[in-house]
Amino acid sequence: MTHPIKSYDDAVAFHGHACPGLALGYRAARYAMDALRAGRSDDEELVCIVENDACGVDAIQVVAGCSIGKGNLILRDFGKHAYTFIDRTYNRAIRLVQRPEPVVERIDPQAAALRPKVMGGTATQEELKEFHERQTAIIDKILAMPVDDLFIIKEIEPDVPEKARIFRSVQCASCGEMVAEHRTRVKDGKFVCIPCAGEYGRGWK
Ligand SMILES: [Zn+2]
Ligand SMILES: [Zn+2]
Repeated sequence: MTHPIKSYDDAVAFHGHACPGLALGYRAARYAMDALRAGRSDDEELVCIVENDACGVDAIQVVAGCSIGKGNLILRDFGKHAYTFIDRTYNRAIRLVQRPEPVVERIDPQAAALRPKVMGGTATQEELKEFHERQTAIIDKILAMPVDDLFIIKEIEPDVPEKARIFRSVQCASCGEMVAEHRTRVKDGKFVCIPCAGEYGRGWK
């Protein structure tokens, strides 16, 4: 089933704000959808592996229709701006990695210089206004520039992850909450959940 192509504004509505990171994710997803000739993913035929959990991932969810809940959005948090799209139907995959030269600095070095002040809360009203104007121009540029100037793109061998499986749940011996068996840890010879085992992360790795 093919759905209409989602606009950048659709991604902004989902994400909650416009930002260069979202625009980059939007370009990556649109490129991948065109390259793989996939319609929006209703099922699991399109899988995306993202290697960061930043703004761009939200655009990918909107454009590619991949989500954590459907099991076709896989987060491998390696801290890289890299996105792999796998089309299961045609057994093809492409990987997009953001170019090493920082994109915002290339487009507008002055905006990049203002950023620490804005993020650190020390920017004046004037500087804030200037920063937002520059951000808007940067986003427009990202949306219009050749995708090769943003990403290094390669067709790769698809390494198709297993389809989402239903796992058995067991009760954590420590807190009593139910936990998927494959996410349990063994502590003192008993099955416990990850927080009770004393491992901390963002909860889904
Ligand atoms: Zn953002
Ligand atoms: Zn527990």
